[in-house]
Amino acid sequence: MEEKTRLFGVIGHPIKHSLSPIMHNAAFKKLGLRCSYSAFDVAPEDLEAFVERCRENNFSGFNVTVPYKEKIMEYLDSVDENSKLINAVNTVKLEGRLLVGYNTDGLGCVKALGEAGEKIKGKRVLLLGAGGAARAISFQCVLEGAELMISNRTMMKAMDLSKEIKEKLGRRVLVVNYSEKSLKDIMPCVDVLVNTTTVGMHPKIHSSPISMEALRKEVTVMDIIYNPLETQLLRNAKKKGCKTINGVGMLVHQGAESLRIWLNTKPPTEEMRKAVMEKLG
Ligand code: NAP
Repeated sequence: MEEKTRLFGVIGHPIKHSLSPIMHNAAFKKLGLRCSYSAFDVAPEDLEAFVERCRENNFSGFNVTVPYKEKIMEYLDSVDENSKLINAVNTVKLEGRLLVGYNTDGLGCVKALGEAGEKIKGKRVLLLGAGGAARAISFQCVLEGAELMISNRTMMKAMDLSKEIKEKLGRRVLVVNYSEKSLKDIMPCVDVLVNTTTVGMHPKIHSSPISMEALRKEVTVMDIIYNPLETQLLRNAKKKGCKTINGVGMLVHQGAESLRIWLNTKPPTEEMRKAVMEKLG
């Protein structure tokens, strides 16, 4: 009997610019698997019905993106410890008819840093932003033994996140005022800077979340934005002599970790990266 194609996908709203289908289908091809990955634009009122349909036999798993990473948890049968900590899910696996949630965003970021030679254990990491991506990355950084600092335009959100990390992991996270002066003053105490804000993302490609003057060449600068590949922040950091890391590594590694969860196999990260880079030019 012919083997059925296993179905995977990503749900979000909107979703048409997602690079996940290209990346995951490249991985399935490399692995020689009969699997297919599609993007699904799901309106808020259809989310529950969509999730129920996924329980059908040949759906094996899906990714979840903005704006459903938190909302999806209501419809799952269980979530792993990491998703509980972050309170968000980006990967769902069908185990029989059960839906199990995971979160690979934070690990994806830390793996991308590691791949670029930045092991963060014991390092002083300053995160710009306190949104969805920042939540996942901040918990993972603390779990990996980094000394974390957070700076966000809306300071209250950074303070809430810091408090939550203290309560859940017992680790102190310094909140830095999101001002030119405070960021410049703290920079001698920073080893790795990670931008998780949307500042610099297409189409506002000439904005940067921090001025060039505040940067120091000793700091490794990562921007998790991947469109454009080289943001204004990374261009400034390069001029300053900093080591820079773009957002493609995180995109690839969070996807690769989803594949590992679904298929229990070593993901072909180089094929995934190649597919993304071809698309991004
Ligand atoms: P989000 O939840 O909407 O958070 C947005 C963050 O940006 C908040 O901290 C917000 O600050 C800050 N921000 C927005 N406009 C700002 C401005 N003008 N000045 C200063 N700060 C500003 O978004 P997200 O889901 O975390 O995503 C953030 C970025 O990461 C996006 O560019 C996304 O594409 C990228 N991303 C990349 C990957 C990857 O795999 N590489 C994965 C996930 C996300 P306030 O709290 O003050 O509003």
